[in-house]
Amino acid sequence: MPTRSPETFSRRNFLLSTAAGASLITLHPFSARAAANQAHLRIMETTDVHVHVLPYDYYADKPVDTVGLARTAAHINDIRAEATNSVLLDNGDFLQGNPMGDYIAYERGMKDGDLHPVIAALNTLGFDASTLGNHEFNYGLDFLMKSLAGANFPVVSANVVTERGADPTKDKGLVKPYVILDRKLKDGDGVEHPIRIGLIGFVPPQIMQWDRGHLEGRVQTRDIIAAAKAWVPVMREDGADIIVALSHSGIGSAQHTEGMENASVPLAAVEGIDAVLTGHSHLVYPSATFEGFDMVDATTGLIHGKPAVMGGFWGDTLGLIDLLLERDGTEWRVVSSSVETRQIYKRNDDRSITALVASVPEVEAAVAKDHEATLAYIRRAVGKTSAPLYSYFALVADDPSVQVVSQAQVWYIAGMLKGTEYETLPLLSAAAPFKAGGRGGPDYYTDVPAGDVAIKNVADLYLYPNTIRAVKVTGAQLKDWLERSAGIFNQITPGGADQLLLNPDFPSYNFDVIDGVTYEIDLSQPSKYGPKGEDLNPTASRISSLMLMGQPVDPAADFIIATNNYRAEGGGDFPGAKGDTIVFEGPDTNRDIIVRFIVEKGTIDPAADANWRFRPMPGTTVLFDTGPKAAAYLSAVKAVTIAPAGNGPNGFARFRITL
Ligand code: MN
Ligand code: MG
Repeated sequence: MPTRSPETFSRRNFLLSTAAGASLITLHPFSARAAANQAHLRIMETTDVHVHVLPYDYYADKPVDTVGLARTAAHINDIRAEATNSVLLDNGDFLQGNPMGDYIAYERGMKDGDLHPVIAALNTLGFDASTLGNHEFNYGLDFLMKSLAGANFPVVSANVVTERGADPTKDKGLVKPYVILDRKLKDGDGVEHPIRIGLIGFVPPQIMQWDRGHLEGRVQTRDIIAAAKAWVPVMREDGADIIVALSHSGIGSAQHTEGMENASVPLAAVEGIDAVLTGHSHLVYPSATFEGFDMVDATTGLIHGKPAVMGGFWGDTLGLIDLLLERDGTEWRVVSSSVETRQIYKRNDDRSITALVASVPEVEAAVAKDHEATLAYIRRAVGKTSAPLYSYFALVADDPSVQVVSQAQVWYIAGMLKGTEYETLPLLSAAAPFKAGGRGGPDYYTDVPAGDVAIKNVADLYLYPNTIRAVKVTGAQLKDWLERSAGIFNQITPGGADQLLLNPDFPSYNFDVIDGVTYEIDLSQPSKYGPKGEDLNPTASRISSLMLMGQPVDPAADFIIATNNYRAEGGGDFPGAKGDTIVFEGPDTNRDIIVRFIVEKGTIDPAADANWRFRPMPGTTVLFDTGPKAAAYLSAVKAVTIAPAGNGPNGFARFRITL
C-alpha cells in the first residue's frame, strides 16, 4: 500500500490537528472562498500520457510507482471533491509511447467500433476535452480517427488541416479547431450562472517531417501563432467567456518564429487567450527548470502574465490552474489565478521512490483486459534475430548489441533526411553499450540468444528513454569524438604482459562506437581526453586508420552522425556534440525506433561488422573482466584475440587479450 504525503492526507480528509489535540474542521468547498459575484474554476491538465494508464513498466515487465493515469486519477478525484467548478483536459500525446500503444497498433488493431484503452481510461475519468499531440500521428490517420471515434469528449486542433483555405478560419480541419463548453458555474453564494468555456488546440507543425510517410498529401499544418490569432476572435464572437489554449508545445523562446516547435510563450501573448496548458517537452511548469526564460515566471506559473502549466509526462503529474472569475453583468472575466502541480510520487534523498497516491480502481478496470494482452505481447516474439545479441565484449570488439542500435538509428535517420540537403552526406551512427558490467555487476549484460526477440528484450538493448538526434560534424570532429570514447582504456606499455585494459571510472555509456567508418585504437598512446571529456593531451592521438569506404577520412569533410538527445546536447562533453551541431531533432525514442525496426524487418541481422579494432602491439597482453557467461560467445568475437584467464574480482570472469 503506497503511503500518502501528509499534505495529501489532510486535504483529502479535511482533518487538521491543533495544539490542544486533534479536532475535526470541515473546510468549505474551494469555490465558497469566492464572493457573491465571483466563482472559482479549476482547470486540470494531464499531458503526454503516452498510453501510461497503469503504473507498469512494460519494457522491464514490472510495476512502477512513477507512471500511470490511474494514479493521476487520485489527484483528479481529490480536486473534484474540493471544487464545485472544474474541467479536466488532456493536452495530447496519449496514443503512442509504450508497448500497450504498440500492441494496439501493431497487433490488435483498431477495427470500427473498437475502443482504444487510453481512450477508455480518459472516458472513465470523464475528460471534458483533449487536443492532438505530435505522437497521435505515429500510427497513421486511419488509426487515429478510429481511436478518436471512441472518445466521449471533443478533441480539438486548430493547426492540422486537410485543406488549406485563404486564411486559417477557411481551413478544413482534421478535427474541430475549437469547442465551447456550455457550463454552469456556482458563485460564492452557491448561485449557478452559465459560462461558455472556449478550448482551442495546437500541435507542433513539425509533424509533417516526423510523420511524413503518414501525412504527406493528406494533411497540412499551420504555424501555431497564426492559427491562434485567426481563431481566437472567432471564438469570442461565438460567445466564449474565457479561452483556454491546449498547447501541445513546449515553453521556449519568447521570440516568435514562423513554424516554431515550442511556441507556448508567444502563444500566451495572443490577445483573448486566458490560460495556456503546455506540454510536449515532458517537463513540469512552474518549476526552476524555467528560471530565466523571457516572459516566463518560473515560480508563479505566469507567462506574459497569464496562468500556464505543464503536467510532466506519463501521468506523473497533474497540472492545476485555479481561476477566480468575476461576473460583470452577463460576462465573466479572470480576476486572479494560481498555478500548481501535483505529483504521483516523490524521489527520496537516497533516490528511492515513494508513491504519493494509490491507483483508482475504475481506471485500472477500464484497461484490465488490454493490460493482460499487452503482457502477453511483450513476452512473446515480435521478430527474430539471426545472431545472438550480447554485450559481454562490447568494450573490446565490435559488438552485436551496439550494432543493432546503430542499424536501427541509420534506418530511421536515412528516412528522415530524405529530400533534405543532408541526404547525400555519409550517414554514420554512434551507439554505446549501456549494460556492460561495471558497477551493475557480473550479470549486468545484454544476453538474448539467436531466434525470437520479444519487446522486453529491447529494454535490454536500450535502457534509457532517450530521443533520436542527428548531428553534422567534420572529419576532424568525428576523429575527436572517437578519441573521447577511447579514453575508456588505460595507456598500455608495448611489450608488457597482463596490463589492466579498462579505466573503471569511465562509464560504458560514454564509449561510443561509430558505425559506418573503420578505425583502429592505438592503446600505446595517451588519451587525448579525460573520463569527463576534459582536455588532457591536446596533441595525443589514439585513433588511427580512420577510413570511410577504404579511403582516409578528410578532416574537412562533412558527416552526419545518428545519435541520441543526451549525446547531441552535450552529454559526456563529446567533440562535435555540444548542442550546436544538431541538424535533426526527432520526438521518437531510440527504443521505439529499435522496436519499429524489428517489427518492420521481421528478422534482423545484428552480427557485428568488426569496423573497429585495437591496433596490433606485438608481444603485448592486457586483461579484461566481463560476465562469466561471456565464455559461451568467445569463438564468435571478431577482430580481437581473446582467451579465458581465470576469475576476476566480484564474480567477474577474466580474459586475456593478445594485442
Ligand atoms: Mn510527448
Ligand atoms: Mg559496427
